[in-house]
Amino acid sequence: MRHVAIVGSGPAGYYTAETLQKADDIAVDVIDRLPVPYGLIRTGVAPDHQSIKAVSRRYEGVALTDNVRFVGHVAVGTDVTIDELVALYDAVILATGAPNDRPLDIPGADLPGVIGSAAFVGWYNGHPDFAGLNPPLDAPGVAVIGNGNVALDVARILAKTPAEFAGSDIVAHARDALGASAVRHIHILGRRGPHQIAMTPKELGELGHLERASPRVDPADLPPEGDDALLEPGMRKSVTHLRSFVANPVAKPVTIDFDFFAMPIAIEGEGRVQRVIVERTTLDADLRSHGTGETYAIDAGLVISCIGYQTPPIPGVPYEHGRGRFASDDGRILPGLYAVGWARRGPSGTIGTNKPDGARIGEMVLEDIGRGAGKAGRAGLDTLLASRDIIPVTFRDWRRIEEAEVKAALDGNPREKFTSIEAMLEAIGR
Ligand code: NAP
Repeated sequence: MRHVAIVGSGPAGYYTAETLQKADDIAVDVIDRLPVPYGLIRTGVAPDHQSIKAVSRRYEGVALTDNVRFVGHVAVGTDVTIDELVALYDAVILATGAPNDRPLDIPGADLPGVIGSAAFVGWYNGHPDFAGLNPPLDAPGVAVIGNGNVALDVARILAKTPAEFAGSDIVAHARDALGASAVRHIHILGRRGPHQIAMTPKELGELGHLERASPRVDPADLPPEGDDALLEPGMRKSVTHLRSFVANPVAKPVTIDFDFFAMPIAIEGEGRVQRVIVERTTLDADLRSHGTGETYAIDAGLVISCIGYQTPPIPGVPYEHGRGRFASDDGRILPGLYAVGWARRGPSGTIGTNKPDGARIGEMVLEDIGRGAGKAGRAGLDTLLASRDIIPVTFRDWRRIEEAEVKAALDGNPREKFTSIEAMLEAIGR
């Protein structure tokens, strides 16, 4: 029997498990610090994007196979160390994602009311780490920094009416706070231009169909239309959406302004954020942005920085600081230790990108470990955890938690998520 531990039960973890479990004589443990599985599917993908979240059914199929086990509520690093796992398993695969925000390194970034997208997204998705965030939604202006899909998610969630959350799994504290929000002017700040956005067409197009909010683009920021022909097709579609926001302006009470060539250089306020100082930029021949010296201010009571994520380092595990991910040779970190998904390649691509990634790392691991070295594997982990009085949450336990969440759902929503670890454990009688 060969034994593999996957740390992290998100998309990269389960896609890797899917490949591994097809092999014979293998036992795969998927370990997560939360009592609930699926990582970004549960707490990252926007609650109004249920069709993307539906992929969790596929992971459930993997989790329910005989040779895959969910080991929830076990924190690698505190409950058990990486070295202990490497000693117990033929291979340990880090699928820990990139849950930390890249720091916004400008003066005033530490003012109250300046929040990273990991925290804001975690808050509306009920991540236990961020349930108590309580973002200030009492001022009309919000600045969303970044021109990626996370910036779009954040702007859309801020702009939606309670009715537009029907059928979503947004948590009650966020639904209520957003329903009472004073936010009226959302600025999405991109330090480069419309041809340099990292937004995909479907997600960008959604902004054109909001009940009470309309997107606005300054036509002066758009390059000549003929230049769009040089773009790859997805990007061209995205830019077409930006052009349609110019061509079909709609007056609605909430505005979502795309501020292009706009680099935040400082955040100011008395005791909390009140405004963002933005410097206009131009691009050089390599499409890098440079400040022009011309500045303006945006009134904002909340600033959400959506400028990408990084993987938290683990002591003793080689790490690439510049890229915010584990240092690996295409997935191999050290003998017996691997990385997959965002922990390997950094925070890029969609959920689906993790499928070929997981398959490839799974196959690489199978090749490396051969028939296994007769390690203790899951029995060894069970003994170690029992010696520390740690009782893992099983997949069966998770299904009871999920049942309770589905039962608590309101108004045709799929579920009302528990937002604390205590409540999750209480649902299984602990
Ligand atoms: P992203 O796609 O890498 O975008 C980050 C944005 O932040 C870029 O526009 C970047 O601009 C900007 N930025 C970086 N540093 C900055 C700074 N110091 N000041 C101002 N702007 C800065 O990251 P993301 O939006 O966090 O998304 C992460 C991944 O998840 C992406 O692959 C995304 O597509 C995916 N995702 C997908 C969906 C979906 O499919 N529905 C939803 C959410 C996320 P520059 O280009 O100038 O560096």
